[in-house]
Amino acid sequence: MSRTTQGGASIIAARPTLYRDAALADPTGPSLRKEVSLLVDAGHVVWIRPSTDEGDLPPDVHVIDAGGSTIVPGMIDAHSHVTLPGGSHWIDRGADPPEELLEVAEHNGDLLGRAGVRWARDVGSPLAVDPRDGRRRALALRVRERWQSDTNRPRIRVAGTWIGHSGVLTGGLAIEADDGPALLKAASTQLDDGADFLKLYLDGPKKEEAPWSTEDVRAVVELAHGRGAKVTAHSGFLVGARVGIDAGVDSLEHGFELDSDAVAKMARQGTFLVSTLAIFRSWASFAQTTTLPRFVTDEGKERIAHRRERAIESVRLAYRAGVRIATGTDFGGGSLRANHLAWEVEALVEAGLRPWEALASATLRGGELLGEGQAGRIVEGGPADFFLVHGDPLNDPTALWRVWRVAWLDGSTSRRT
Ligand SMILES: [Zn+2]
Repeated sequence: MSRTTQGGASIIAARPTLYRDAALADPTGPSLRKEVSLLVDAGHVVWIRPSTDEGDLPPDVHVIDAGGSTIVPGMIDAHSHVTLPGGSHWIDRGADPPEELLEVAEHNGDLLGRAGVRWARDVGSPLAVDPRDGRRRALALRVRERWQSDTNRPRIRVAGTWIGHSGVLTGGLAIEADDGPALLKAASTQLDDGADFLKLYLDGPKKEEAPWSTEDVRAVVELAHGRGAKVTAHSGFLVGARVGIDAGVDSLEHGFELDSDAVAKMARQGTFLVSTLAIFRSWASFAQTTTLPRFVTDEGKERIAHRRERAIESVRLAYRAGVRIATGTDFGGGSLRANHLAWEVEALVEAGLRPWEALASATLRGGELLGEGQAGRIVEGGPADFFLVHGDPLNDPTALWRVWRVAWLDGSTSRRT
């Protein structure tokens, strides 16, 4: 990298970078490709060639000896909350002052990148007044603006804030809508604010009842689709999942209580499931690390173990039915941290996915869900959005914890002024 100074501004001109003799993990199959060299210039993959036959190299190329490591497509955390920190007090943190949450977002952006996560799909952030114009809107919209021009930061898509029935989400976090017209108005406002997609909260005040009718939700789906936006739905219970699926939402988040009819219809319609199973692993760890009764008492532990079994069974059913499964940590909106996506890939393997399929959920399926064809893939001419780990993540998800380098943070992928 050469650095020159013109009129006080520092200009960094990146040299082409060659990652030499790595393995390459393509999550469309179980086998690593070995002895691979990959040339990056100006943020793009120029070519991928056998290390034994690289051909001519650019004269100023920077060579990185990647021997022993594996190139992995940048991951997509398809269920995240970038403005919130997670941890055992994750719910309380939602009430922290906006300025603090913006700092949290920067820390999360850093953690995501270093963990190999290139994309974050933000499925809910608190409302906050924007000091620039006094308007109250989802805080993650401001984060998206900040990160747009920073190549080191994750690429994000933002759902705005949660839309829920009254009496469900505490702390004034959600926009409340108790009937069809109110729901439609809330949806419309979110899109006007600049949300990329909508997030409905399909758990009602009563566990056994969905918060809205199928017709009411369908009207929102039609409104959003008419404006080029997708609709996703939080689904903790079967009754809400059914309403979402029948109404034609594009995806269900969590899907903790699906049955065989529900997953069959999802597969037919192409409805995505976004799994968040590692939440239960995180809660189980709090039995050792906290004194909170819901995690440490026998009753609490039993309740969590029961929900965990049910959630794993739901994902297993969906997988066997052929539902497209993307995945996320739920960091911030749940207790995980922003650099824990590997945990979720491990959890998907426990639910029956082969390790390379679980990695596909964390990469190219997430790209399909976002409608970003190049996200989660490494192709010649495409963005140099990959990272390098030690081990074979197509057969061992724990390899994803062993991050060595992240191409988009290497300084080799961008030309900036
Ligand atoms: Zn969430």
